[in-house]
Amino acid sequence: AAPLVVSVSTALSAKRGLLIRNRTQFEEARKLDAVIFDKTGTLTQGNFGVTDVMASTGISEEEVLRLAGAIEQSSQHPLARGILTEVQRRKLDLPSVAGFGSMTGIGLEGTVEGKQVRVVSPRYVRDKQLEIDEVTFEDLSEEGKTVVFVLKDTELIGMIALADLVREEAKKTVQELKEKGIQSIMLTGDNQKVASWVAAQLEIDQVYAEVLPDDKSRQVRQVQAEGKKVGMVGDGINDAPALAQADVGIAIGSGTDVAVETADIVLVKSNPKDVLSVIELSQKTYNKMI
Ligand code: ADP
Ligand code: MG
Repeated sequence: AAPLVVSVSTALSAKRGLLIRNRTQFEEARKLDAVIFDKTGTLTQGNFGVTDVMASTGISEEEVLRLAGAIEQSSQHPLARGILTEVQRRKLDLPSVAGFGSMTGIGLEGTVEGKQVRVVSPRYVRDKQLEIDEVTFEDLSEEGKTVVFVLKDTELIGMIALADLVREEAKKTVQELKEKGIQSIMLTGDNQKVASWVAAQLEIDQVYAEVLPDDKSRQVRQVQAEGKKVGMVGDGINDAPALAQADVGIAIGSGTDVAVETADIVLVKSNPKDVLSVIELSQKTYNKMI
């Protein structure tokens, strides 16, 4: 009877918008103890809008956006889309870029008008011991805004704050997982304050912030080392190693190709709430068989 149940579940899962790429891992989904969620684009909409632009003395806001926008043109990151939308809104002309490079989980760099321009995370700026306007940075972060810094050669020329929205479905998902006795954990490359702000809205009590892509998979392993069966839900290139490490890797359908190709299961409708469907369908399918 087993194959019949399994094929019925395949039809059911397709109907619910679940793409099962790895049946063995799908079976494991019914035993999950914890689900680790990537923040941006998974728990939040990943739809950033620029809220504030701060320019250093002698530099205009437009200059900060123009240089940042120039190199963000080559990026697929949700932050890039937010910055470029603002550039368009202000009708700024973007200069061309040479020698573009991406620093995964940190930011971007490229040569613009003969200068090395970087758009980077707070962590990068801290590691390089650059002096920033701490008070403004802290205030923006406490409002849940993601702040990126713009550098021209070694000089800090400004910062750009962007806001994202928490997904309502994500909040329900966390609640229902809790009711099932499954723990939710948030993992993000974004800074601690923003992470805490989002976590508080979703009532997630465990958060790992400022995590670099390689450390994302290490973080998954660490939770597994507590004897837990772990699901990981993500959408980005930087989530791929963590998706591979998890007992069940789940990609958001609208995510990057790399995440989708690495995952065991794809949420075709891009709704984090479908994680619950994965668990329930796995239980229905396999608990019947034994
Ligand atoms: P997340 O885990 O939320 O998906 P990432 O690991 O992709 O975050 O990025 C971590 C941080 O690196 C971002 O919060 C940002 O500060 C910086 N960063 C990454 N990509 C970009 C980009 N294209 N432009 C500017 N900053 C970026
Ligand atoms: Mg992401």
